[in-house]
Amino acid sequence: MGLFTKKENKPDKSRYCEYCGDKITFMKSGPILSDKFEICGNCANRISVGKSETLIHPKTLTLKMATDLLKQVDAFEEIFSPSATSPKIEVDFNNQLIRFGFGSTVTYRYLTFDNFLSYEHIEETTTHIVEADSKTNINPKTNQKIEKLIKNISLKINTNIPSTPYFFVVFYSSFTPKHTTESYLYDKQMKNIRQGKALLDSVLRHEPKSDSSPVQPSTVSESSEEKVVSAPSNIQLLRDYKSLLDDGIITQEEFDQKKKELL
Ligand SMILES: [Zn+2]
Repeated sequence: MGLFTKKENKPDKSRYCEYCGDKITFMKSGPILSDKFEICGNCANRISVGKSETLIHPKTLTLKMATDLLKQVDAFEEIFSPSATSPKIEVDFNNQLIRFGFGSTVTYRYLTFDNFLSYEHIEETTTHIVEADSKTNINPKTNQKIEKLIKNISLKINTNIPSTPYFFVVFYSSFTPKHTTESYLYDKQMKNIRQGKALLDSVLRHEPKSDSSPVQPSTVSESSEEKVVSAPSNIQLLRDYKSLLDDGIITQEEFDQKKKELL
């Protein structure tokens, strides 16, 4: 008999997510939890499970714990109604929830006001020297111009959750920096990050729940604190690269190269 018989005799090796029931494919593959149960990539993303340092390591999580976390996210999703929004950060003052968005195929992470401690503005640049020539419009007398190319603009979010004490909201990140700090892109991302910081400032000023006084409108704080800390997690970086690819900021080639490096 032909191919069909052979196929039918093969045992069904399909695996299914223990939480949502979706079939686990290569693109949706997720982690194996400590008790050997498996959840899909989507469910893992929703509760920040993964192997990088800013995620919850799957070996520390049982299916019961993962299920409880997923139910909590389901509940947050149900009630979340933003009172104030910025490109990557939204705040629901009534329910005291913050929602952080990652990438353009948006994955969200929720934090309650109580779990949010502080944020740090992270900006990494690399120095680039442009030599005077016919193309660069640089005065041959001065001969060269020093430019700063953007590598990474992010907010590091600090929490009081022991399993994920911090994570990164990446506003811009480039493996092959080419946009300068004088570019439109830089201005745009700095504007986005200022809006996000203003929202987080208003959360930090927010009174505990017992106080029902209305929230004061936030003012933009121009914090000049800039700290360089360790790089954002690979998964988060990859998501943001995907978003940059979708937005046409980086090429497929650059994305593939970065993906190879990160995975
Ligand atoms: Zn699932």
